[in-house]
Amino acid sequence: MGRPRRTLAPLTGSPHPLTDPSTPNGELEAVLSLAEPPLSSAEPQAPLALTRATVDRAAHHRLDEAWLAAAWSHPSTRVLVVSGGQVLVEDTADGGVELVLVPSFEAPYAENHRYFLGTDDGVSYFAVQKDALPGRMDDAARPAGLREVGGVLSERDAGLMVHAVALENWQRLHRFCSRCGERTVIAAAGHVRRCPACGAEHYPRTDPAVIMLVTDSRDRALLGRQVHWPEGRFSTLAGFVEPGESAEQAVVREVAEEAGVRVGEVGYVASQPWPFPSSLMLGFTARAVSEEIQVDGEEIHEARWFSRADYRAAIESGEVLPPTGISIAARLIENWYGEPLPRR
Ligand SMILES: [Zn+2]
Repeated sequence: MGRPRRTLAPLTGSPHPLTDPSTPNGELEAVLSLAEPPLSSAEPQAPLALTRATVDRAAHHRLDEAWLAAAWSHPSTRVLVVSGGQVLVEDTADGGVELVLVPSFEAPYAENHRYFLGTDDGVSYFAVQKDALPGRMDDAARPAGLREVGGVLSERDAGLMVHAVALENWQRLHRFCSRCGERTVIAAAGHVRRCPACGAEHYPRTDPAVIMLVTDSRDRALLGRQVHWPEGRFSTLAGFVEPGESAEQAVVREVAEEAGVRVGEVGYVASQPWPFPSSLMLGFTARAVSEEIQVDGEEIHEARWFSRADYRAAIESGEVLPPTGISIAARLIENWYGEPLPRR
């Protein structure tokens, strides 16, 4: 108790709950045998909201200043302005949302804050970081963050935005050399920061975190409520990988620390970038070898074992809120449940 713990950016909490188009929220099949193990679906699942990307990062161009200058000034090039994790978006005629991408001659000047994001279909994409998003005459554009629009953007736009936001977070928080303290300068089209004093090169930092759906011998799922979550919000346990630890070891340790449950077999499922500000979420399943729950009370306020019938009833009664948002947590829970999750 009392030792410093690093808490993950919340998995939920958007003021605008996302509708993930990959997660149909239609009615459950009328007849669902809840005692049965989950349906094994042979169909490939849609990619997670933040792992969709069609843009070729074209990293070989990052050190080619002549190529970058030519690409920047090309009339087909498009620029995304990013500020504090937000970008401008606008609604499309068909009810979707798209990024506001402007030609470089319309983009604000920001040579020291310009990131090359890649190419797609002959078009080069850059992001520029500014202290504030530019206004627009037509007023059709509005600022939005990844939690709000990450799940509803097109694949191309989702990939561009997550790349731009992750780079911006890193650039903003790593302006000084961690070796000598000197101010660093941008290099490699935004993918490196170089120290002019000691020559050190600093690369974008990604902090691995694990997120796990724990089941017991009766295939019940262990879901917890974080201290700061609203009443009824239960989700998978999660935590950061510590130095000198494998992801699998982190799963075992975090489940023991947060819920007091011992875990045996651990299986990898998928990963997703989680740039709030710089995590990579590694999704796992884990099999418990003990059932008694003892929450830490610091990070997890309450944890419970849910059978599928329990979970369905708790959501339908409103006692438990279904997972929302762009986190892999919803996918892990849905994979265990074996069906699209019930809605209230
Ligand atoms: Zn230095």
